[in-house]
Parts: sequence; structure tokens; C-alpha cells
Amino acid sequence: MKSLFQKFITPLAALALCTAAATGHAADKLPVVASFSILGDLVRVVGGERVAVTTLVGPDEDAHVFEPKPLDAKNILQTQLLVTNGLGFEPWAQKLVKSAGYKGRSVVASQGVKPRTLPAEKGHNHAETDPHAWQDPTNVVIYVRNIAAALSQLDPAGAASYQANSEAYIKELQTLDSWAKEQFAAIPAGKRKVITSHDAFGYFGAHYQVGFLAPQGISTEAEPSAKQVAQLIKQIQREKIKAVFVENMSNPKLLAQLSKDAGVTVGPELYVDALSKAGGPADSYLKLMRHNVTQLVAGMKQN
Ligand SMILES: [Zn+2]
Repeated sequence: MKSLFQKFITPLAALALCTAAATGHAADKLPVVASFSILGDLVRVVGGERVAVTTLVGPDEDAHVFEPKPLDAKNILQTQLLVTNGLGFEPWAQKLVKSAGYKGRSVVASQGVKPRTLPAEKGHNHAETDPHAWQDPTNVVIYVRNIAAALSQLDPAGAASYQANSEAYIKELQTLDSWAKEQFAAIPAGKRKVITSHDAFGYFGAHYQVGFLAPQGISTEAEPSAKQVAQLIKQIQREKIKAVFVENMSNPKLLAQLSKDAGVTVGPELYVDALSKAGGPADSYLKLMRHNVTQLVAGMKQN
């Protein structure tokens, strides 16, 4: 026989859950902050209904040059888990954690990924770790597992749900990867060359055997010298590259100059370090990758 307490509390609890679901109110959800929009998407997929995700660097924004605002410090304090990419992508994250006095948990999503190093000659005076590991979907499998493990630790009651969500998503990542490999296989190896505005495709290029030439170095902060631009124009002409692309969060002026001086047409935007806004062509990681692969393949066909 049910106790009076149970009789009384169960309908109330059920009502509270219904209200939360109907209004989308996040009060009973696990609050998680992701450093940038692509990670936010992954946390949303793995966390599902149990998690409320806030993203610090939003769609179409540049995490390389992000400067946290007081609101970000406030957001971070209301969270129980901070998810970052790591590999030096968010140089501001540790400072934010410290200045906000955040004492919650953190997880580095790229933990366990084999990091790539950018050679020193790319306009940098020292070799740097390449942070753009998510550009290889086999790395994103590792990201997803790390996120699922962190959520399960924090919310053991949701572990089965996080596990199921991540396994289903990993299947989608594998489908994406096979599809992308097929697309590139149709392009002769000698034509798999692309110019992009910042050096973010190291993992992607290594995985799909596509050569990316970037005039701007690893970070969007670095401006190329006139000499570097002149060298690149020569290279475009010598190697007969027609596939030239810009990205959603960088200044396209440089590539406009390249296309004018080297006589190439700049292709549609690629989405590299940020998703597009909701409803755009790359408002999820899976859509971002499909968009980029489709555009890159179309560009390289003209090489
Ligand atoms: Zn980047």
C-alpha cells in the first residue's frame, strides 16, 4: 500500500516534469557549457533531453580570437560541466575558469586524439599543435565518447541514455566518413588541392588525402605578409589550382585579392571552426561536414 507521502508526491512530481517538458524549461536539466558551437552540437546530441547546453563561442564566431564577457563568467558559474576542445584551441578558457571562480567539472573533448603538429615554416616561429581535430570524423568518435563518459559520471542515472545516444551518433559519423571517402575517391590524386583562408584542415587533409594550402597560418589572428601572398599566387598558377575557399568566420578580403591577382573564382563559404546559424547550411556537425565535402569536391573538379 502506498504511503500518504507517495500518493501525494507522485502526481506533483509528474506535473512538474510535464511542465518542464512543455515549456522547455531547463531547471531540471543538467547545465553544461561548451566552449564553441560544434562542441555544443555534440553535447546536445549525446545529452539529449537530460542536458541543457550553453555555448560560449556561438555560430559564425571565431574561437581563436574570442574574448569572454561578464555574461560568460555568469553562465559558467551556473553550469556543472565545462566541455572544451583542448589542443590550444581556447587559450582564453583557463583564464575564464579562474576569473569566474568556476569549481565545477571540466572535460577536454579531444583527450586521446593523436595531435597533429604544424610545421614551423607556416608563418609561425615555432611548431604548434593543430587544434582542429574535429575536422576528421574518426576523431569526433573520440570526442563523443569523452562527452558521454563525463556526462555519465556527473549523472549516473542518465548513463544508459548517453551511451545509446552516442552509439547511434557514432554510426552516423561512420556513414558520413564512408560517404566522404567515396566523394574524394572520384577526384584524381593530382587534383586534390585546395586553397583555404586559414590552416584548419590538417586533420581533414590527412584523413581524406587532400592537399590544403593556406596563406594565413594556423590562427585567424595572423596576417600573411605581402611576400607570402605573392608566393602563394605563384603557387596557385604553377599548380593550376582553381579551388579557392573562404570560411564563415574569417575576413574574406585576402582571398578576394588572391582570386583577383591569381585569376581564380572563390568558392562558397566553408564552415570550419563554427557552425552556421540555425537554418543555415551547416547548423550541425554532420551538416557542416557534408557541406564542406560537397563544396570541396565541386571546387577540385575544376582544378
Ligand atoms: Zn581555426
